Amino acid sequence: FGPSHAFYDEALAREVLEGLELERDLSRGFVDGEFYLEYQPIVAVDNGDVRSLEALLRWRHPKRGLVTPDVFIPLAEKTGIIQVIGKWVVQQACAAAVTWPAPTGVSVNVSGDQFKDPNFVAHVLDCLVETGLAPERLTIEVTEAVFSVDIDLVCRSLAELRASGVRVALDDFGTGFSSINNLRLFPLDELKIDRSFAGQMLETSQGAKLVDLMHKLSETFQIRTTIEGIETKNQLDFVKLLGIGEAQGFLFSKPVGAAEALNYVEARLRQSEPLPSA
Ligand code: C2E
Ligand code: MG
Ligand code: MG
Ligand code: MG
Repeated sequence: FGPSHAFYDEALAREVLEGLELERDLSRGFVDGEFYLEYQPIVAVDNGDVRSLEALLRWRHPKRGLVTPDVFIPLAEKTGIIQVIGKWVVQQACAAAVTWPAPTGVSVNVSGDQFKDPNFVAHVLDCLVETGLAPERLTIEVTEAVFSVDIDLVCRSLAELRASGVRVALDDFGTGFSSINNLRLFPLDELKIDRSFAGQMLETSQGAKLVDLMHKLSETFQIRTTIEGIETKNQLDFVKLLGIGEAQGFLFSKPVGAAEALNYVEARLRQSEPLPSA
């Protein structure tokens, strides 16, 4: 063990300690109101209408500043507090969405672990009743990782939500290691092609073919396709060419606070309305 090893171990130890600290901080931070949601539009490729806004969780930590969900969601899953925070996210998202002009919807990310909570589905339906949001305006986004929780439990929960009109999206499609056979078992309304594919799409012909293939797969199942991570006009033009219906990414808007999200939706509506006649 040379000095470089000692250095590596120190860095690793620091990382582990920071993780443990954050883990302990999660529940305190949640109670202290350090969490909030940002919203990112998902737009119709043909006319720019905002179909839905995806709710993305943020944690403003008093010492560390903004902590990204890629860091704290896995910790929240590990400690189980994701069940509590996740319910709050659904409630907040529904409350925000009723303030948007219909039929603009809201899309909420849900971890596999949240389905282990026997009250989760009932909670979602309660939020719809309490806020008065039409179920069709709520989309639950799950990733292929939910398949590793308990496929029967997850399928039953999602089927129950869909029976009430709630939509279900498969997020980050193409990056997981699940079988495409799951598309058959799994009740779905929307497939979201992972943003890594949008990045590669114009670089290689294989990248473009993969996106086309995933879109055709989703069409075969009569599922709507959204592509994530659209950052350039060239990418959007290509997505149009492929006939993909919906897109999301920095080209349209980065995730923004609730007030700015409402402004975005209203501004888009004004643009798509026909001009008043003179
Ligand atoms: P996701 O659901 O796939 O969300 C999309 C992520 O891509 C967001 O990252 C968004 O900011 C980012 N993004 C959007 N457009 C672009 C683009 O054009 N370029 C690039 N480079 N990135 C773009 P974010 O907000 O950091 O969230 C990361 C992940 O954390 C989410 O991925 C989701 O899996 C998870 N997450 C976020 N909020 C929640 C939540 O409330 N509950 C759960 N369970 N997971 C959440
Ligand atoms: Mg998502
Ligand atoms: Mg995604
Ligand atoms: Mg993701």
